[in-house]
Order: sequence, then structure tokens, then C-alpha cells
Amino acid sequence: MQSQKPHKIDLNTEYPCPCRRRGRIVPIVLTEAFGCNRCQQIFVVEENGYLLEQLSTTYPYKQAWRWMGDRWTKAYTGMKDSYLPLAMGIVFALLVVWLPLALQSPLSSNIIPWVLVALILALLPALMVWLAYRR
Ligand SMILES: [Zn+2]
Repeated sequence: MQSQKPHKIDLNTEYPCPCRRRGRIVPIVLTEAFGCNRCQQIFVVEENGYLLEQLSTTYPYKQAWRWMGDRWTKAYTGMKDSYLPLAMGIVFALLVVWLPLALQSPLSSNIIPWVLVALILALLPALMVWLAYRR
């Protein structure tokens, strides 16, 4: 069994690329960065060598990985950290506050479809983030 603790990333070693195109990331001389020979992505080393972060300008979020000795595991994305709990909080607040009110109302039969629409609208961004993160 491999240790589940992240290993320090050695700036003098080649690693498989986390892009899953079977690329290799090789150290870029005189920088704390790696470049992939397949996907042309640049990765920078953060957190004193324990985090590999994708250098990306095309996505609103960043992907990062930790090296487990034989494979990469996803660490976080910048957007997931801040946005997803916020979206979940909004949905939760809607459920707790709005839904009982709507159900008690004499107009509940008219309101419930709108509550459902609002819930779907609130869930949609969270779903989009989840789909983007899943790739
Ligand atoms: Zn790659």
C-alpha cells in the first residue's frame, strides 16, 4: 500500500501529467514550474513543493493536484472553494425559509411551481460548477 500522504514535488524530476493525455511534465529550468510535452500546459509548484497548480488564464478556476508518490490527486479548484458552498448556502436558505412559507400559504398550489423554478435556478450554477469540476 502506498502512503496516502502527499509527497514533496521534486523540481528535478519528471512526472506524469495530470491532464490524462499520457503526457510528461518536465521541469522548466530556473523556475518553479513544469511544462507538459502533450497538452502544453504550465504547472507551478506551490505550498513549499506540496501542491501543483495549473497555470491557466482560460478558466475562471484553477486546478491543483498533490503528488501521492505514484499518481496525482485533485487538491482543489479556486472556484469550488468559494463558490460552491455559497451556492449550497443559498439553496439551503431557500429550502428552510421559503418552502414552509409557500406550503402554508392558501395560494400554495399557485406558488409551488414558482418555488420549484427558483430552486432550479439556484441549483443550476452549482450544477455547472460541478460539471466543470468533474472533467
Ligand atoms: Zn499534459
